Order: sequence, then structure tokens, then C-alpha cells
Amino acid sequence: MLDKRKFYINGKWVDPSTKNDLDVINPSDETVCAVVSLGSQADTDAAVSAAKAALPSWATSTKAERIELLERLYYIYERRMDDMAEAISMEMGAPIDFSKAAQATSGTSAIKEFTKQLKKFEFEEPLEGSNDQLLYEPKGVCALITPWNWPISQVALKVIPAIAAGCTMVLKPSELAPLDSMIFAEMLDEAGCPAGVFNLVNGDGAGVGSQLTSHPDIDMISFTGSTRAGSLISHNAADDFKRVALELGGKGANIIFADADDKAVKRGVRHCFNNTGQSCNAPTRMLVERSVYDQAVQIAKETANSTNVDVASKQGKHLGPLVSKVQFDKVQNLIQAGIDEDAKLVVGGTGKPEGLETGYFVKPTIFADVNNQMTIARTEIFGPVLSIIPFDTEEEAIEIANDTPYGLTNYIQTQDPEKAKRVSKKLLSGIIEVNGKSTADGAPFGGYKHSGIGRENGAFGLKEFIEVKVVSDWS
Ligand code: NAD
Repeated sequence: MLDKRKFYINGKWVDPSTKNDLDVINPSDETVCAVVSLGSQADTDAAVSAAKAALPSWATSTKAERIELLERLYYIYERRMDDMAEAISMEMGAPIDFSKAAQATSGTSAIKEFTKQLKKFEFEEPLEGSNDQLLYEPKGVCALITPWNWPISQVALKVIPAIAAGCTMVLKPSELAPLDSMIFAEMLDEAGCPAGVFNLVNGDGAGVGSQLTSHPDIDMISFTGSTRAGSLISHNAADDFKRVALELGGKGANIIFADADDKAVKRGVRHCFNNTGQSCNAPTRMLVERSVYDQAVQIAKETANSTNVDVASKQGKHLGPLVSKVQFDKVQNLIQAGIDEDAKLVVGGTGKPEGLETGYFVKPTIFADVNNQMTIARTEIFGPVLSIIPFDTEEEAIEIANDTPYGLTNYIQTQDPEKAKRVSKKLLSGIIEVNGKSTADGAPFGGYKHSGIGRENGAFGLKEFIEVKVVSDWS
């Protein structure tokens, strides 16, 4: 069992001010794999105060100094990629090969992308047609609060642009999956990140999370997590007008038109199950045009039946467990709600897959004949559970897709490019993926409606951490 009880504050690993241990559970076998500390107000204050003290110097560091730091970090991260992948696999259950190929590498992708953005970003420019000068300055001291499902991806999408912009920060990672962030802190330390620029305090939402979001010395909060917590955080931040960037949940529709390519259904099921369904951008509602509906349900069933589930440490392609007992119970209840509300259970259901009685494993589950008012079509399940919904016309598909409080990602499958363009203009979401093509590396990531405020990644993600100043009579 790992002892990870220290926090990283002002460039040093320090003991918590009060002992308050929390076990980190390996979801594949329900054993305690590490112990961390939950911080208290004194720890939060110490971290915020270190970040505040470091701000004047880091805010005026040169672009070259920031680029050098990020480039050193990149090489250290590459060297420690296996440590990162193993930590993520152990703490949140991502199968080790997937953890190496997708979870851990998301950190280096973010470093690479933001280094590129920083290199081309001009921190000063004239306001066109005037004698005014625009100055792009760091927003200040940032609180970064992250979830467990893509843990280092969410951390890197906040920490790296904050560093690039000249901000200082306190990171509070998810208490369920804090180990990857602690490795990341070790990397930043080794890369020579100046003391106080990056601080890490572990804790839960009610403790360190709330202390950070109401702290008078925090200028900006960047949060990824549930819509419930996003709303609480916005209320907390309102009193002193902190900037708030929110990446929240989703209930993406995947519209399969009759002229979709023949891999569309299989691809959609696999995408929904990816990361054991624990992705905010998962296409969890598959809307299928009636003329190809029965065929689609059959393909979906075969795809689910050929999906293996196993422990995270095992190599190969399979789904791992859900992250926690709480998440397991929530998903079981939602599968039961689907059955109770008379959706047609095509494959899967409640209970654990055979031979996997220990660990938070769920059967890959598909419901057909779902209508969009059912609980399983409205709630973000965050497990490998797909709802298939029939539609008759393009207008009806758009109406069903948009009939959700969320608006993060939607998907369109058609071989008619004009239809794809027409439909994408009408879908209310920040991201539309067509025919299984992912968006580009630096593409903005974020949602409409209850899916959040702001955009992460690429040029948009860097600008989130920038304040704009205009000065007259410059030259
Ligand atoms: P969560 O909201 O419970 O927790 C996320 C983080 O917020 C954790 O660090 C937690 O300790 C903290 N937190 C919780 N309540 C808080 C409060 N009142 N004040 C301050 N901090 C608080 O979410 P989760 O269960 O860890 O993550 C799953 C959710 O995250 C899903 O809803 C998912 O869709 C969403 N998510 C969204 C994106 C995105 O980019 N849109 C990405 C990943 C996850």
C-alpha cells in the first residue's frame, strides 16, 4: 500500500496540518492501494497563500521561460509514462493497455499542444485601427478541481494552460483518483517549476473543494465534474465575481441515418462503452432511423456480446470495473430503472459479469425501444449502458437529440455530407463528430446548456486563463 499523505505546497512535500486519512480503493479487487490525506482549511490557506506569493514573479516570467519549463516537463513525463499509466489503472480501473494508450498519453498530448499554442501566442498587440494596445495578462491565482474518469487528461488541460498563461494555482484532484496528480506534481517539481506556481492539496468537495471555491484570494476556478457540483461552485464563486470555467456532464446523441456506413452501429456501441462508459462525451443515446432499426439493434447486441470485462491489470482489450462502489450502485439502480420503465433489455442487465464477483464490474448493457422521456435516456449513467431510440424523420432526430439538459457532444452518421452539415447546425452542443472522425488535436472542448461554461484545449483553452487589458495612447 502506498503512503501518499503529503501535499505539495510552495515547492515542497509537506505533512497535512491535521491527520485525516482516506483510503484509495483499487476498483478491480476492492483492496486499499494507497492512503492519502484529506486537507483542512489550514492546508487550503497555505496552498493559496503560496500561489498568491508566487504570482507577481511568474506572471512576469518570459514566454521563453514558460516554454522551457513545459519542454522539460514533457521529457520527464515521457520517461515516467509507465508510472502514470499504472497509477491510473490502479486507482480508477482503466485496463492497463488502454491506460497506456489513451489515459496516460493524454497528459503529453496536452503539454505538446499548449507548448505549440504558447509559442504562437502574442501577449501584446495593437487594437486594429487605433492607437490602443491590448495586453493579455494572466488571470491570477486559480483553483483547479478535477474528476476521476480521465484524471490526468482533466488535470493537464487545466494546469498546462494556466502555467502557459502565467497563472499560479492550487490543484485539488478527485479524492477517488489522486495518485496520477501526485506523480504529475513530482514531474513538475523535477522540471524546476518555481515554488508556489503549482500546489496540490488532496481533499473532498465539501472540504478543500468548497474552501477553494469560496477563498477570497482565488481569482478563477476551472472545474470539471458533475453538473450538481458545477452549480454549487458557481454559487460559491458569485460573491466575489471569480471567473468560473465549467466542463460538466453529457448525454450525447448518436444519430444513425439509414445511409450511414456499415460500421456506424458497432463503432457507436464501442464508443459508448469506452472507458467503461465513464466519459462525459460518451454517445449514450443511439438514435436510429426506423428503416435500419432492427438491423442496428442486432449489431449492437452482437457488439455488446463480444465485449469482454476483466480486471484492469490484465493486458488486452476489455472493459475494466467502474471506479467505486457508489458508482456501481448508481449504475445498477439506473439499469433497474430501465427495466422498470419497460425499455427492452437486449443484453446485459443488473448484477456482475460471471466470475467477477469482487470488484465494481458491470455487464455491458443495451436497451432498445427506449423513449427519450425514460430515466435512462435523461440521466447521465456513467457506465457501459446504451439506450437505442428509433426515429422517422431528420426533424424528429434533431428534436430528440436536443431534448436533454446537456449539450456537450453529439454524433452524426450519414454518407450525405449536406445532411451532415444541415443537422450539425441544428444540434445544440459544443462538439459534433461526424462519421466517427474525432475532432483535431487543438479543437475546443466544452458544452452548451448544462454541460458547462467555456472551452478547454488549444487556443481557446489557453485564453480561458487570460485577462484582457487595453491601454490608450500607446505609441
Ligand atoms: P464530482 O462533481 O462529484 O467531482 C468532481 C470534482 O469536484 C472532485 O474533485 C470532487 O471532489 C469535487 N467536488 C465535488 N463537489 C464539490 C463542491 N461542492 N465544491 C467543490 N468541489 C467539489 O464528479 P465526479 O463524480 O468526480 O466526475 C464525474 C462527472 O464529471 C460526470 O458528471 C462527468 O460527466 C463529468 N465530467 C465532465 C467532463 C467534461 O469535460 N465535460 C470531463 C470529465 C468528467
